[in-house]
Amino acid sequence: MTDKQTFLIVGASLAGAKAAETLREEGFDGRVVLVGAEGERPYERPPLSKDYVRGEAERERLYVHGESFYRDHDIELRLGRTAVDMDASLREVALDDGERLRYDRLLLATGAEPRRLAIPGGDLDGVYYLRSVEDADGLRERLDRGGTAVVIGAGWIGAEVAASARQRGLEVTVVGPEAVPLERVLGREVGGVYRDIHSDHGVRMLLGTRVEAFEGDGVVERVRTTDGRHLECDFVVVGIGVQPRTQLAVRAGLSIGDGILVDDRLQTSDPGVFAAGDVAGAKHPFYGERIRVEHWANALRQGPAAARNMLGGGKAYDSLPYFFSDQYEVGMEYSGFARRWDRVVFRGDPARREFIAFWLAGDRVLAGMNVGVWDVVDPIQRLIRERVAVDDRRLSDPDVSLEELAPVERGTAV
Ligand SMILES: Cc1cc2nc3c(=O)[nH]c(=O)nc-3n(C[C@H](O)[C@H](O)[C@H](O)COP(=O)(O)OP(=O)(O)OC[C@H]3O[C@@H](n4cnc5c(N)ncnc54)[C@H](O)[C@@H]3O)c2cc1C
Repeated sequence: MTDKQTFLIVGASLAGAKAAETLREEGFDGRVVLVGAEGERPYERPPLSKDYVRGEAERERLYVHGESFYRDHDIELRLGRTAVDMDASLREVALDDGERLRYDRLLLATGAEPRRLAIPGGDLDGVYYLRSVEDADGLRERLDRGGTAVVIGAGWIGAEVAASARQRGLEVTVVGPEAVPLERVLGREVGGVYRDIHSDHGVRMLLGTRVEAFEGDGVVERVRTTDGRHLECDFVVVGIGVQPRTQLAVRAGLSIGDGILVDDRLQTSDPGVFAAGDVAGAKHPFYGERIRVEHWANALRQGPAAARNMLGGGKAYDSLPYFFSDQYEVGMEYSGFARRWDRVVFRGDPARREFIAFWLAGDRVLAGMNVGVWDVVDPIQRLIRERVAVDDRRLSDPDVSLEELAPVERGTAV
């Protein structure tokens, strides 16, 4: 690499900012340009549905780096600028203000955006989505005013927003088609624990039903469900999942599937272009398939991994998926990835919200989630990564330590 090169990063959020940082850490002394559509310098989103939206955390806590970091590291930040076109053969990206940026290597870290509800009344005032700090500021101000909220969607965002709104003392109803919250990832048994947590905190869970329309005169006043209910409300929050922002990659003719398709080195179908974070459908060496992970830890680690490979590192990204969630006083961490499993084994007491759940296929652990139990992620990840054959009785027995089931000497720490 010569110092004349330009490494361009589109998407100034967690994956993009950590990639820029890593380029400098690794000694790259060419030009680093970080382009972001939002007006804010890179920040982290997890607090937006938790303490930040409740007004318990200051904005300063969100930022990935201090204000002077980019200047100090000679990283050119272009904020409030959207990359609108890309020509991979010319190695050029066009911004919305007409500037064209030539690159030697490009990282697409464009993330994901909320799916919109296309139903009658969907564009009424008082219908909130949550992705950006600007969205969170609007919702935070709405929570301050109290009242009755209907949350559409019982996934992570819906569940966390419902918890935050209850913690602020609002009346909250959650509407979703699933039988239990978080069913897609956790399944019925563990999702049932979360249904009970919300019910215990006074959230009305209207599951197994969909939203048909929002009604109101300019502002949403009620939600009509497919099972014929009319839910009066002051506002609505929609959290029905996200979709990867692939538009630029599509324009450049890169391979697209679930996200921008990359190999295990996070390289797209164009060798000069990489992708990381929520937008990347990455071939995972451990799973032998492509997975797209929409979680904080993945953006945190893939950004740097992509940066090293942009510099010629050639190393596969093989971290196990990991994420966390906080709802009320209940914190959890989830490791692994399971589309299908044949049973769930519990260690500890779900009713006390202190337990570990393991998702198994045969005698192998596919995923594990610790709730109110800490410092167990390493052994849980070793069980998964080392494909340790486990016995349900020992796995559920709190007197058999996880270290005993998954000793460190079995393999490298994860
Ligand atoms: C409210 C909320 C709570 C969350 N809580 C958790 C949690 O508890 N645990 C967890 O593990 N994960 C959580 N997540 C998920 C986590 O925040 C994401 O996985 C992470 O933000 C992904 O980072 P990213 O850098 O890949 O993409 P993003 O954060 O989506 O950032 C992409 C950036 O690229 C910019 N961009 C897109 N296109 C262009 C373009 N053409 N030109 C210029 N800029 C562009 C966007 O404006 C955006 O700033 C949460 C997410 C949200 C929204």
